[in-house]
Amino acid sequence: MSGSVTVWRGRRPRLATVVVVCSVLVFAVQTAGWAARVITRVDIRPGAAETVIAVFTADEQRLEATSFSLQDPPRLVFDFPGATLDPDLPLEIPVVAPALRAIRLGQFSMEPAIARLVVDLSGQRLPPSWEIAAGAEPGETLLLLRQPGPALLAPPNTEIVHGVSLVRIPGVAQLRRSIATLTDPPRIYADLTDAVLQEDYREEFSAGVIREIRMAQQPADPEHPIARIVLELREEQAHIVFADGPDLILAVGPQPWALPLPEYQADSRLEGKRIVIDPGHGGHDIGAPAKFGSPPGGPFEKDLVLEIGHRLAKLLKAEGAQVTMTREDDTYIGLTERAALANHQKAHALISIHCNSCDTPNTLQGTSVYYDHQHSRGFAQLVQRELIAALATDDKGVRNANFAVIRRAKGPGILVETAYINHDGDRARLVHPNFQERAARAILQGLTSFLSAEPHGAGSHQ
Ligand SMILES: [Zn+2]
Repeated sequence: MSGSVTVWRGRRPRLATVVVVCSVLVFAVQTAGWAARVITRVDIRPGAAETVIAVFTADEQRLEATSFSLQDPPRLVFDFPGATLDPDLPLEIPVVAPALRAIRLGQFSMEPAIARLVVDLSGQRLPPSWEIAAGAEPGETLLLLRQPGPALLAPPNTEIVHGVSLVRIPGVAQLRRSIATLTDPPRIYADLTDAVLQEDYREEFSAGVIREIRMAQQPADPEHPIARIVLELREEQAHIVFADGPDLILAVGPQPWALPLPEYQADSRLEGKRIVIDPGHGGHDIGAPAKFGSPPGGPFEKDLVLEIGHRLAKLLKAEGAQVTMTREDDTYIGLTERAALANHQKAHALISIHCNSCDTPNTLQGTSVYYDHQHSRGFAQLVQRELIAALATDDKGVRNANFAVIRRAKGPGILVETAYINHDGDRARLVHPNFQERAARAILQGLTSFLSAEPHGAGSHQ
């Protein structure tokens, strides 16, 4: 048996793990043939808006819990009837999280067995609301502490990878954000809604594309304060945005989309959903024609969209979705057949993937998502937003058009124009495997947001 505490602090998902293994079973409480459950592990996952305390038992059964709050000093108390503490668990765990000071563990009583977890609050801010919920792992009970007010924004952490500056902002991946660029002087700013600065921050950098980063509180709508982070650049740069666990990362520099991606973590959010992926064109139909300026020997639209389609299919399968591709290889399928396939399956979503082109090479560039039926408009918007953030392409917006595939599909359907194949800059992106993977993940993210509108809400409420 082992008692361990894991604390995720801001920055990277770095684990400060204390694991102690004991050789004998001590204090296994036996009362008239009834064995108490043993709490063996407590994980703390601090976040700017929500801190999660995960409590694990040895027998992989979830705990019952009662809770209340006390003043002087302010604290939250969670009691676990029928539970004892692994003797190797520390009695106090310091916590770096908004409004929290420390977590204490104790055996409130032995007969009956009641283990107690106390959350000491800082008292400087409003106390969090809390909820007890079942965790995803066996024997995992979650204590969710939510800040009633805005999230607390900690200073960012910056590193340079392959000439690209990665600015990691801890714990804010879930906040509403708006990111924009300005040219004179060149800078990028990100506004995070419902966030306040933990402390003033300003830092200059001698190396890399970023000259200075600073954070400022925007003139407040007191209901929804906005924290702004400004990246002053030495010269104009592309940027992409992505989440790494709870953290938000702004990647700034030449070709940030070409950066290697973190391992994809599937979490079964699309279990059982029927998704049809339609890589456009195929066979004799190469897609955007060479006369529009694509090099005559390729790359061809039909091949690029098939590659993105395969990547999306792989991600979807990892999420538990039932995936059908209208074509798996270089064959031609009629437009009516493609829509009929989605209709026959009563697909939860149809995603047709294409590359755009225009009459004159190198005049247009960027990404857009098309929908036909009104019920697919929100779907298109969600996917477009994710694509722009992930790819750093020009935002050509969401458009209404009656392309045959999405017009004939009865369920939700969109047509993604990933980038312009007859624009040199866009084409250099389209052929890059990391760009293709980012496009697939962005489509997946938008699709997941569309299909999982319901927020989680397990457990009893306090
Ligand atoms: Zn096409």
